[in-house]
Amino acid sequence: MRVTLTPIHRRDKGISGTIAVLQDVTEQERLEQSRREFVANVSHELRTPLTTIKSYAEALDDGAMVEQELGQRFVGVIRNETERMIRLVTDLLHLSRLDSKQSPLRRQAMNVPEMLEEVADRFSFQLRKKSIRATVRVEDGIETIWLDRDQIDQVLDNLVSNAIKYTLDGGRIEIAACRPDLTSIAISVKDTGIGIPKKDLSRIFDRFYRVDKARSRNMGGTGLGLSIAREIVKAHGGSIALDSELNEGTTVTVTLPALQSGGEPS
Ligand code: ADP
Repeated sequence: MRVTLTPIHRRDKGISGTIAVLQDVTEQERLEQSRREFVANVSHELRTPLTTIKSYAEALDDGAMVEQELGQRFVGVIRNETERMIRLVTDLLHLSRLDSKQSPLRRQAMNVPEMLEEVADRFSFQLRKKSIRATVRVEDGIETIWLDRDQIDQVLDNLVSNAIKYTLDGGRIEIAACRPDLTSIAISVKDTGIGIPKKDLSRIFDRFYRVDKARSRNMGGTGLGLSIAREIVKAHGGSIALDSELNEGTTVTVTLPALQSGGEPS
């Protein structure tokens, strides 16, 4: 609570009273705190790969370049770190566009079974590499849904890519669509992966929040995938929820309004 006191002056009587303004600054402070945290996180996330790139470039300069095998390995590290930085900056730009509502939705009628089969196809190489079996299941009667294809594809890609990243070789993934009620369609991505500890669940959609930073980084994660997914789903008038059991698996469910054509949900 911020209190501002302003004295009331009267020409002949001096101070005749005081106006007290009580302002609730809790929300303002909370926003300011999360802004500061975000900037600190971005700086840290960019600094880490830059420090690695610098030290490997120096090592090459100091002679590692002459040993062909070592030189190639160091160049590989520099390339990986650069690619991760590009992904990070791309994700940040995307989030900033979503925050400032600069990416208006371009909704179109999408065939749900086709859309889900296509996302599984896009990941067929990674799925095969880890011997993960992916299935697609769509409840009878679900045909089309009115949404921004590119944006929802990005949501599905983030969820399926996480399911693959955090599932051990030989696991299973199910991508499903059902109708929880007459006005919505729920799309879920369920895996038999490592799961998330209960204590982390409440922060899992926060920007840069990761259960295991080192593991996520090693797998090329930016820690922004779920936050981007949540913003896109919110823009569609929907919601996203995550349910997980440690060492058993995770299910992420996106619930979208079952609009048939045109308009935005009220
Ligand atoms: P990242 O780029 O680190 O994967 P995300 O925002 O996509 O970032 O996810 C945030 C964190 O949530 C991940 O670092 C991971 O700890 C956890 N997570 C997300 N999806 C899953 C999943 N399917 N199984 C287990 N953990 C997950």
